[in-house]
Amino acid sequence: MFDYFYDQHPNYQEPALTKRRFSASTWENLIADWSASPHFTVTQIGQTTESRPIHEVRFGVGPIPIIAWSQMHGDEATATMALADIFRFLTLNTAEYRAIREKLHQKISIYVIPRLNADGAERWTRETALGIDMNRDAQAQNSVEARLLSSWADSIKPLFAFNLHDQNRLYSVGNSAHQTHIAFLATAGDEAGTWTPSRTRAAQLANRLTRYTQSYLPNKVAKWTDEFNARAFGDTFQSRGFGLLLLESGGAGWDLEKQSLRRMNAAILLDAFVSIADDSYLKEPTHLYTNLETNERQIFDIKITQAPIDTEGKYRADIGINLVETAQPSGEIAYSWSIEEIGDLSYMHALNRIDGSKWSLPEGQNISLGANISTLIFTENKLIAFDLSTFTAKIN
Ligand SMILES: [Zn+2]
Repeated sequence: MFDYFYDQHPNYQEPALTKRRFSASTWENLIADWSASPHFTVTQIGQTTESRPIHEVRFGVGPIPIIAWSQMHGDEATATMALADIFRFLTLNTAEYRAIREKLHQKISIYVIPRLNADGAERWTRETALGIDMNRDAQAQNSVEARLLSSWADSIKPLFAFNLHDQNRLYSVGNSAHQTHIAFLATAGDEAGTWTPSRTRAAQLANRLTRYTQSYLPNKVAKWTDEFNARAFGDTFQSRGFGLLLLESGGAGWDLEKQSLRRMNAAILLDAFVSIADDSYLKEPTHLYTNLETNERQIFDIKITQAPIDTEGKYRADIGINLVETAQPSGEIAYSWSIEEIGDLSYMHALNRIDGSKWSLPEGQNISLGANISTLIFTENKLIAFDLSTFTAKIN
């Protein structure tokens, strides 16, 4: 079914969401649409620190309970867009969609908190309004949002739980130049990493999803390190036997709004729901998943080797340059460039690797660490050999 859900995505994607960061009113309209649909039960189950409503969208009457939540980290909304797409899939009335919907409706019950940390989403920050990282608050539960998530999951006792995140776009698949597009983790529920029944079924499902995702994104799929962290919700929920699977959307080349990963998320989750509904995940081994390379932080956006770092041409070094995202009060996301590191960067990979050994740094140009820059030019025989603005032009 994965290929079908992937191919069909343009026909069911939610048109109201076109970018990762969207307004509160856009979200309220979607909640109103889902509330009005006969296919869902939408309930306000709590509110954030700043009194924004937290909603649960529920679908199905089947005996297998599944939970999913997105935007526990406010600035990680790729899966939120995919969930909106899935809700649209579940309301459209083509004969094929209806047949899938009716099967899922009878076999499983899906409980979704599509936007948990609404205060962070409004600010476009990882943390809650109190500055708390919810995913380090599973034990202490200092934040109201963490208390809500914990008690909500306990009341449902799901067979599977989907913990949906975005990760830094510059993680690599192992020690390679491949940018991690999608990462999975069947979290450990204890220090020893015991293969409990819940962790094993999460890994079986991850195995299936790895196989399909890799067919679209060869070498771009990784897994997170499975070191146990009791403060994280994934690990805590696995210890409660909830079949927890972490799904992370990483980078996607110049698709900075990650619409290609939104599509992949929609296919992954719909395929997972079908596989859970018909028990087909139980036939899966786990080696495709367990053999995935882990995420490493090994990539620059741009690496220039042996670049001139002064205008007199006395010094050369490698330069690593990354994109920097800044949330604007207007609701937009602004991009600039930062020189992350200067020196021997032979150990680092890059999405764009360029030889600067024959270049000069023109008068007026300055290489300094950490500076947010919008222009940078190098020349070769007095002609422009590198212009950062050609990269800036690829944004959007
Ligand atoms: Zn996250």
